[in-house]
Amino acid sequence: MIESTLRDAFHRPLRDLRVSVTDRCNFRCTYCMPAEIFGENYKFLPKTEVLSFEEITRLTNIIVRLGAVKVRLTGGEPLVREEIETLVAMLRGIDGVDDLTMTTNAYLLPKKAQALKDAGLERITVSLDSLDDAVFRKMNGNRSSVQKVLDGITAAEKAGLQPIKINAVVQRGVNDNTIVDLARWAKDKGYILRFIEYMDVGNINGWRMDDVVPAKEIVERIDAVMPLEATERNYKSEVALRYRYQDGGGEIGLIASVTMPFCGACSRMRLSAEGAIYTCLFASEGTDLRGPMRAGASDNELEQIVRQTWGNRVDRYSEIRSGQTDPARKVEMYHIGG
Ligand code: SAM
Ligand code: SF4
Ligand code: SF4
Repeated sequence: MIESTLRDAFHRPLRDLRVSVTDRCNFRCTYCMPAEIFGENYKFLPKTEVLSFEEITRLTNIIVRLGAVKVRLTGGEPLVREEIETLVAMLRGIDGVDDLTMTTNAYLLPKKAQALKDAGLERITVSLDSLDDAVFRKMNGNRSSVQKVLDGITAAEKAGLQPIKINAVVQRGVNDNTIVDLARWAKDKGYILRFIEYMDVGNINGWRMDDVVPAKEIVERIDAVMPLEATERNYKSEVALRYRYQDGGGEIGLIASVTMPFCGACSRMRLSAEGAIYTCLFASEGTDLRGPMRAGASDNELEQIVRQTWGNRVDRYSEIRSGQTDPARKVEMYHIGG
């Protein structure tokens, strides 16, 4: 693999790009887009302010030229963006993208899985926080049953979007009593399950440290029922801690961004739906690319902005969060896609 030459202020390369294709979503997860705030009257971005597929493809091309080899489509909910498979096909055509994938709530996968596969999507990550219907509904703002998500996963499997990864955010007192069931199910099905510590992204989810179930505790709870052993990370910038079942039946990952931050290995850039790049999930501000692009900037000029933004990057929010005052306004998760 060719290593990117572009490095930030801490010598971290740019390797991953997350593209948020919309700020809209058909769910209202309480930890991301709570229904009280994202109600009928919430003003989402007007269409004209959202990047077109051509614009996303152009910027992705530039960012890939600078070293990104993994591209993940996210949102909001990427499948609510009309004709998203067209964008997949356009991105598939970019030289240098080794891995093209998507994170989705799976609700629309029965309609979309085959088209996505045909367009060149390789694999998919589905967010599913619990198999208990009442718990899941409570977490997604009562927008979906568990069955709907399972139907989406089945459709993805049928279409050959493999391997399937499952993401589950864990909140104490909300779904932590269902993590062992989820782990057992994923193990039986052969899906790679990743538990995500509930994060203090944005300002609207009312995050408290008490709501976080540390990764270590998640491992202990599963290990007590299905013994686990720690395993090596696949590659240096992998953010998940990995454990495999001692009986050889698969593995789980843990994204311990709160209790075991991994900023030192963070090689991610995020492109928001309206065309700003963010170099940290906890950033208060992005760097606008849409403005210069629509004003006629050349690829070289846009490349310079990206280079400079990454070159000046000093973000390590998770590593310094303890004991620090938070930035007054952080970007919201649905805005830049997790
Ligand atoms: N709508 C898609 C989905 O839910 O998969 C993609 C966008 S969503 C913002 C991407 C991921 O971020 C999801 O797996 C979601 O669970 C996770 N997420 C959102 N808010 C979070 C939070 N406060 N803490 C941890 N993970 C969060
Ligand atoms: Fe929507 Fe995903 Fe956020 Fe849930 S986590 S509200 S599905 S964007
Ligand atoms: Fe990367 Fe920022 Fe998260 Fe640290 S806090 S791992 S720099 S996104």
